[in-house]
Amino acid sequence: MIEPLLDVRQVTLQYKTTERVVTATHRVSFSVLKSDRFVLLGPSGCGKSSLLKAVGGYLDPIEGEIRLGGRPIHGPGPDRMMVFQEFDQLLPWKTVSDNVAFALQASGKLRGKAAAERARHYIDKVGLSRFADSYPHTLSGGMKQRVAIARGMAMEPEILLMDEPFAALDALTRRTMQDELLRLWDDTKFTVLFVTHSINEAIRIGTRILLLSPHPGQVRAEMNSTTEPVEQTGLETRIHDLLFA
Ligand code: ADP
Ligand code: MG
Repeated sequence: MIEPLLDVRQVTLQYKTTERVVTATHRVSFSVLKSDRFVLLGPSGCGKSSLLKAVGGYLDPIEGEIRLGGRPIHGPGPDRMMVFQEFDQLLPWKTVSDNVAFALQASGKLRGKAAAERARHYIDKVGLSRFADSYPHTLSGGMKQRVAIARGMAMEPEILLMDEPFAALDALTRRTMQDELLRLWDDTKFTVLFVTHSINEAIRIGTRILLLSPHPGQVRAEMNSTTEPVEQTGLETRIHDLLFA
């Protein structure tokens, strides 16, 4: 058996506020292999972001365990980089290239010229070379998301965590970004854990798809979209039935 890169075992996540306890997920298990494009799919509020936060090390499970490369996760680390939905995840006072180089420098991974070179390499990969010296406010939403992706990839993490990264984009840009992500993946075969509530996006992006039930999220099914029938509408209908049955 191949050792999973990321192993999420029976993970229950809760938020405790002064008034109440919210259970976000209940005993969710899945494992991600190296170079998987693993998608968490489920309706809003089913705990997708919470799972990503837990993998990121920002939220401790109250039950279960998360391991990366066989080691339990304790807090955030440069081996897991996050790309969010929001366009304002970039530092507005830094240029595109400084935004990408910043995480490399702050984490102590690379310094000075080496960080700048690594940043340039990934900015080029997302097609933004001409905008390396631009500031975020001068870029479109899609371009800002490309910068966030370049920043995440530049760290060359063990796993890239993407929380509905294209959800705030218009339909056409979203489609383009999906294609670009797949093209980047063809290039380097990075491992990605991708969250979406769109069935269509899950099918396009995922090699494996984990279906989560509505709040609190539990595993409904797991599908391997590369071995399922290629007929997309059939798969879409089945996922729809599983999610909303
Ligand atoms: P999703 O990303 O699938 O939409 P979330 O993980 O954001 O779902 O949320 C799962 C559940 O946890 C929801 O009921 C949500 O209201 C609750 N929740 C999320 N964040 C917090 C928080 N910081 N405090 C309290 N409850 C939260
Ligand atoms: Mg969310």
